[in-house]
Amino acid sequence: MPVRTHRTVLRRAAAGGVAALTLALACACGPTSGGSGQAAGTPAAGPSSSASAGTASAGVDPSSSAGTGDPTPTAGPTSGSPSGSPSGSPSGSASAGSTPSGSASTGGRTAPASPSADPAPATTAAAPRPAPDAPGTSIVYNTASSTTSGKTVALTFDDGPGPYTGQILDLLDQYHVKATFCEIGPQASANPALVKRIVADGHRLCDHTVHHPQPMHTLSLDKQTYEITAAKDMIVAAGGPGTQVSWFRAPGGDFSKANRQIAAQDGLRPVGWTVDTRDWARPGVDQILANAKSELKPGGIILMHDGGGDRSQSVAALSQLLPWLVQQGYTFDFPAS
Ligand SMILES: [Zn+2]
Repeated sequence: MPVRTHRTVLRRAAAGGVAALTLALACACGPTSGGSGQAAGTPAAGPSSSASAGTASAGVDPSSSAGTGDPTPTAGPTSGSPSGSPSGSPSGSASAGSTPSGSASTGGRTAPASPSADPAPATTAAAPRPAPDAPGTSIVYNTASSTTSGKTVALTFDDGPGPYTGQILDLLDQYHVKATFCEIGPQASANPALVKRIVADGHRLCDHTVHHPQPMHTLSLDKQTYEITAAKDMIVAAGGPGTQVSWFRAPGGDFSKANRQIAAQDGLRPVGWTVDTRDWARPGVDQILANAKSELKPGGIILMHDGGGDRSQSVAALSQLLPWLVQQGYTFDFPAS
């Protein structure tokens, strides 16, 4: 008995900062209602608010604390950044670029000078309309090939990398499926080997902030900027030279105009989801599967979790979801960028 206690204490002490982080993550990715992010254009598909973020609080999962494990020093600079296509810059394609600003590739931070969007209203002073979304700031709710291919789906995993990420990567590998990982900066820093493996396996990365703040849109601009830019830096540092981070996902889907713009300026496209498996609430494997199967439509984006607590249900559900998707004729893709 005493030994056990002692051990617990030690583990706690060792976990230190990680424990604090884990608490912050516990809130999981359930959609928050507040976010004004939905914004223009996007089909209703977005996070079904019906999800009543409720239960969320329950989530705090102390077990995960120590976790993060994977102490393997990773050494291997598998920098080979395979994912050949930098896909980077969204639509932009620096077309007319009068200035030879060579570095275009880096997702040009130069804000595309407001493309003459001025409709020059006629005399009547219309009620002030909110400015249209800047390019690249609208939330993506579909796969990259959704308009050209039939049954495609994008799998996304949030809140890792962590102790369950390896099992998820094994499953994805088994079915030759590529997915997107929305990572927490410090989790990436703590598990560089996993980030490197994600990249080496051909998956792609998404920025899921430093502290997983919920709500996020109420933070100061400075703090939101830090949450996004610092997390991206941590993920890139963990992945090694050349690591690409293509998307930003606000915790709980709490996108706002501000955080979408901050992300876009850092070369990140906001990405939502159309299917919340609610695996973060650990409703049981069958329920996770049922959620996925009932909500999925071709071109959709599925939200699951590889981090933020005990994800054994997520792993088990994925092991059944993958063969089902294949059987249904789905092919796997990344979110549009
Ligand atoms: Zn999350």
